[in-house]
Amino acid sequence: MSIRLYNTLTKKKETFEPITAGKVGIYVCGITAYDVCHVGHARSAVVFDIITRYFGYRGYHVTYVKNFTDVDDKIIVKANTEGKSISEIAERYIREHDQDMQALRIERPTSAPRATEHINGMINLISILLEKGLAYEVEGDVYYAVENFEGYGKLSGRSLEDMIAGARVDVSEKKRNPLDFALWKASKEGEPWWESPWGRGRPGWHIECSVMSQHFLGETFDIHGGGEDLIFPHHENEIAQSEGATGKSLANYWVYNGFVKVSSEKMSKSLGNFFTVKDILKNYHPDVVRLFMLQSHYKSPVDFSDESLADARMGMDRFYATLKAIKQIMTDCGDFSAITIEKLSEKEKTLCDRLISLQDNFKDAMDDDFNTPRAIGYIFDAVRLVNGYMAGEKFYPSAQACFVLDIAKRIIKEVGGVLGLFLEDPDDYFAQDRDREARKRGLDVNEVNHLIEERRTARLAKDWKRADEIRHALAGKKIILQDGPAGTTWKIE
Ligand SMILES: [Zn+2]
Repeated sequence: MSIRLYNTLTKKKETFEPITAGKVGIYVCGITAYDVCHVGHARSAVVFDIITRYFGYRGYHVTYVKNFTDVDDKIIVKANTEGKSISEIAERYIREHDQDMQALRIERPTSAPRATEHINGMINLISILLEKGLAYEVEGDVYYAVENFEGYGKLSGRSLEDMIAGARVDVSEKKRNPLDFALWKASKEGEPWWESPWGRGRPGWHIECSVMSQHFLGETFDIHGGGEDLIFPHHENEIAQSEGATGKSLANYWVYNGFVKVSSEKMSKSLGNFFTVKDILKNYHPDVVRLFMLQSHYKSPVDFSDESLADARMGMDRFYATLKAIKQIMTDCGDFSAITIEKLSEKEKTLCDRLISLQDNFKDAMDDDFNTPRAIGYIFDAVRLVNGYMAGEKFYPSAQACFVLDIAKRIIKEVGGVLGLFLEDPDDYFAQDRDREARKRGLDVNEVNHLIEERRTARLAKDWKRADEIRHALAGKKIILQDGPAGTTWKIE
């Protein structure tokens, strides 16, 4: 079976046919580096993270390019307000972005180019468009003449008239058509500039992606993606620029993730219902955030609310509780390398068959336009089966049970890993969860750990009075200590 994906250009679900067998090139538009990332950025990042991971899982060699816009009106405004250079502002927010993405377990793209590294390429491309009569210069600005490009509107499926009527286009005396867009802008006082054949200026926004995608992926590449708000005008303009210059199609498949809503309303700064990635990760484990997003199909909107995240947290706790139970049982496993499927009971054979079929079911779901909700449903099924098995077994574990649980763990972690889930040791997951809960209640986790260490020293010195004092003090904060062979752990009452 092959991967099928919904192509916004053709408005159909299509079988993926790579340009080069065994390889896939993907370009996704990245952030404009002037502010910290919010949940909307996180969703797009998670969606394309699992799409690229899944291509890798299916044996493709993936080249994934995601750019940074590091010159733009919003960056210039911020730089001028703060008395900084645009590169200082961009640098700061690219660093913040990278930290957020790492925290969310997003794999790094193959390349993460910045617009300002490709100014010469942009000047070349604009010159070609001018030569071809697809662009015109007015007083140091260069505009794209949309009427001269026949395919304008083909991605969003709209005619020029519809677009003019529906778009909030800035009316400028210099433009011949209100939909014409700036390829190059003459720089004003206080703005950064580069030398060009049209005088000192800076690029418009859209041109960078045409240049960087061609630089890294060639004139035609496999998949172009982004949030659905990029279809018009950004990607429509990229098509006009690239295809206008090369005469070849820019990308074969156009893939978009849906919006993030907050309690059924559109998320926006002005409504105040705005969450940054750092905000959510204070309250939820990254696996919980990923599960929340992947429980909806990537094209659907997701509704961000405390209830939906609490649900995702319960689901993730169940996954990790099963992995933890498997881990605990398996610490008592001896050598089970002599066991094969034939040596299992009928019940165990059936369980193994069903676990192995999880891999096929998972692939079926993901091949079908990356249907993560269905894929996650299969993982829940597998967890239910394993829990039933563990509840019915009398442990100390037999070699057969160890064999079965080993298969269960490997398969669950393998398919989960494709979704970027279960990468954590289960004990670490629950410890982080506890620390997060403690912080929410205003407890200082470092102080708790420090007191536990002090109690250990007191006990070693047989100072039972001090040891008891510490235990009582922590109990007063609803912290329960558990002494075990591996040391003392704690939990919240
Ligand atoms: Zn772009």
